[in-house]
Amino acid sequence: MISKPKGTYDLYGQKAKQRQYLDDVLASICEKYNYEYIKTPVFEASEVFHRSVGIDSDIVSKETYDFKDRGNRNLTLRPEGTAAIVRSYIENKMFGDPKQPKKLFYNANMYRYERPQAGRLREFSQFGVELLGSDDVFADAEVISLAYNIFKILGLKNIKINLNTLGDEESRKNYREALIKHFKPHINTMCEDCQKRLLTNPLRILDCKVDNNHEAMQTVPNILDYLNDESKNRFLKLQEYLDLLEVEYEVNPGIVRGLDYYNHTVFELELVNENFGRSNILCAGGRYNNLVEKLDGPQTPAVGFAAGLERVLLALEEEKVNIPINDSIDIYLGYVNEEEKETALYLTQELRLNGFICETEYLGRSLKSQFKSADRLNAKYIIILNSDDLKDYQVKVKDNKTKEEQKVAINDLVDYFDMHM
Ligand code: ATP
Ligand code: MG
Repeated sequence: MISKPKGTYDLYGQKAKQRQYLDDVLASICEKYNYEYIKTPVFEASEVFHRSVGIDSDIVSKETYDFKDRGNRNLTLRPEGTAAIVRSYIENKMFGDPKQPKKLFYNANMYRYERPQAGRLREFSQFGVELLGSDDVFADAEVISLAYNIFKILGLKNIKINLNTLGDEESRKNYREALIKHFKPHINTMCEDCQKRLLTNPLRILDCKVDNNHEAMQTVPNILDYLNDESKNRFLKLQEYLDLLEVEYEVNPGIVRGLDYYNHTVFELELVNENFGRSNILCAGGRYNNLVEKLDGPQTPAVGFAAGLERVLLALEEEKVNIPINDSIDIYLGYVNEEEKETALYLTQELRLNGFICETEYLGRSLKSQFKSADRLNAKYIIILNSDDLKDYQVKVKDNKTKEEQKVAINDLVDYFDMHM
């Protein structure tokens, strides 16, 4: 028997229905917020991610699926959405669209070579939004509150936004120097990655999963002390907006995010539940004002987030949130002989095209077994086709709850069910 690759999963049955529900809710909220759906390829030129996420980020240095195709091109299965969308934004000149800012959402599989565990997979799905073309913290507030509201609408009560700012370039530079000074005396006792990060991107040390309890972490300088006035005011304004929108958040100077391209706002959405381990971060994002330029587009400020949908579904389960999924069909059509079978074939199509969920028999089983099938499918009504009735253009309709039976003219069936359902 051939098994699925490590870190992947098959989605079917009830779980597939839950996922469909989630996808529908996300798309419908995006419609209200006027974010447009965008789809980009599963693989991109490797450069798209190397140049954006950062060559020494965890994602690019350890987690990407890189391969050469038969034409010797360097390609990468996308590990995240933002860089690919920015590539598309530039290539399709969306910056020139009269409708601005550009507000996009995606819901797509991502690929990272990780050590699989609960809420951490090699093929997983992210839902995310990107708002490109506005530098106003108004946009940050919208994006953060959108993330927050999605989880509220889904029914998660114990959630919290962890909010931070990385400031502008000047603030970041000052903070970077402070971090180097702080970590230098400890660096020999820290992990190999952190030793590299000290030289390349010391901010990432704060995101380290190995050293997160290291003593040097307890006394790290606070980014908020290194912000220049402009960055500070921006951050305060954002908090004012979030208060106005009644978003529950906490300023957490430890949030830096592992990706290279963030500046100013960064945030995570946390499920506050101690059983949930490290998978309690359901969603993360921030502002990335330099990424479009970095990928050869015009200077374009932008802000966005991505949510891990497997984690979201785990969270809904863990928090015992009721997911409304339809577990019944409207009508089951039972029949025995060939004439009835033809009518069943025709009528199921007719009823389906009129909006009813219909099922019928495919295996030539007895009427008794067909009734059992109808029960298993939680059919609300059963149509029993019978040659004698068909001569009068009629069928027998049974209410599967009350068990009452009634003859209905074939021509009136749609109206009948419209009235009764
Ligand atoms: P982590 O710190 O958990 O590794 P990350 O910083 O790598 O997360 P992002 O790149 O910001 O995560 O991705 C946004 C969201 O996507 C995460 O908050 C999480 O919900 C989800 N996610 C990331 N990696 C995985 C994965 N391997 N499997 C499932 N979900 C994931
Ligand atoms: Mg990660």
